[in-house]
Amino acid sequence: MNATAPTTHILVSGAGIAGLALALQLVRAGIRTTVVERADGPRPGGQAVDLRGASREVAERMGLLEKIEPYRVDEKGLAYVDARGRVFGRMSMEDFDGKGAVAEIEIARGDLSEVLRRELAAGPSGLLDLRYGDRITSVMQDASGVDVAFASAATARYDIVVATDGVHSSTRRLVFGPEEQFRTYLGGYAAFFTLPTPADVEEGWFSMRFTPGATFGIRPDLDPRTSKAMLTLRVDRDPSLRGDLDAQKSLIRRMLAGAGWHAETILAAMETADDFYFDELMRLEVPNPVRGRVALLGDAASSGSPMSGMGTATALIGAYLLAARIADGDRDALPDALARYAEQIRPFAAQGMTLMGGGVERMVPASRLQAAIMRATMGVMLSRPFRPIVRRMFAASQQDLPLPE
Ligand SMILES: Cc1cc2nc3c(=O)[nH]c(=O)nc-3n(C[C@H](O)[C@H](O)[C@H](O)COP(=O)(O)OP(=O)(O)OC[C@H]3O[C@@H](n4cnc5c(N)ncnc54)[C@H](O)[C@@H]3O)c2cc1C
Repeated sequence: MNATAPTTHILVSGAGIAGLALALQLVRAGIRTTVVERADGPRPGGQAVDLRGASREVAERMGLLEKIEPYRVDEKGLAYVDARGRVFGRMSMEDFDGKGAVAEIEIARGDLSEVLRRELAAGPSGLLDLRYGDRITSVMQDASGVDVAFASAATARYDIVVATDGVHSSTRRLVFGPEEQFRTYLGGYAAFFTLPTPADVEEGWFSMRFTPGATFGIRPDLDPRTSKAMLTLRVDRDPSLRGDLDAQKSLIRRMLAGAGWHAETILAAMETADDFYFDELMRLEVPNPVRGRVALLGDAASSGSPMSGMGTATALIGAYLLAARIADGDRDALPDALARYAEQIRPFAAQGMTLMGGGVERMVPASRLQAAIMRATMGVMLSRPFRPIVRRMFAASQQDLPLPE
């Protein structure tokens, strides 16, 4: 990469995986970068995220693989359990060659962002300004730059603004318009949080149970004393749930009541979890993630919801492509660099919107009868004779796209 002129100044809104990965590569390329994050400090939490194919290659090219190594969660695979915790189907990492529901490299989202923050701290000094507790309130662009105002009352001018502020990006709203035009409700909600590992959960396995209206699971953490609870609820969209923690938790209590296995353990842990995450499952797609000197990256640009399992991978790939395009042009060519990024990210964004498990309707039964049918089908599909067919199905849904240099 050829560093652009040292005066180039880029603003990144959001210090999630996309924002941190982009900032790291920009400062490494000698480009002055400001990152503004709405939260008052780093946001921990999140399930294990998968790195495979192109995203693994990005992590390798960024020199992150060895830093990730100590945080790798040793997940053996996925086990479906019944109301009493008996396993009736398994998808092991080995059987599926890391191409099943569990990938070869799994790292908790919070740990990956910690790795990125540490790399940023070790990066070239004087180029990065990472500010917590602030956000963009207005964006005005012209032919040569972007004027930005912040909630803190600060104002500044940048060459480029990149919105990495997640699926509900408010920077996107300011520049591209309301969220409604880009999103499609996928029929449910997802919640994640940490819980103490129950004694009888099979070590290293991601155990999952489905009941009418809800699929819930317990997934291993790096520290075996804790695990992650993962819930998918099949319900109609209710806009009043947004931001209302009590309503979100009471919906979960209702949906998991009497669901057997560890439903009660999960509900008890939810009350005190400090990393409770809840959001609607939606597909978000902005047809062109670039408008002049403003670019969208990560979930702000496209998302298949957590059900795709691809959000972090797509964010890493996008950050790599965008940083490369910015760094290999000169300052005057920055709008062209963004346009090239928009073209290059398209196939990866499309792939990131594919739902590996087939979406809420396939993952969460609507009735008792459907739950029984799903259970029987899973038992057969994951039995030894059928495994090669299922493996081929997973492999076909994960065609490795070549990563541009
Ligand atoms: C706390 C948390 C837990 C998550 N857990 C999971 C999970 O378990 N499974 C899963 O599949 N996905 C999860 N996700 C989403 C996942 O991180 C993304 O799909 C993926 O990593 C792409 O990340 P991103 O950086 O584009 O967006 P995000 O990870 O959503 O990061 C966006 C960042 O922008 C910040 N932000 C929001 N609004 C503003 C604003 N106006 N100004 C400045 N900053 C702003 C947010 O605080 C956040 O730090 C989680 C996200 C978060 C924030």
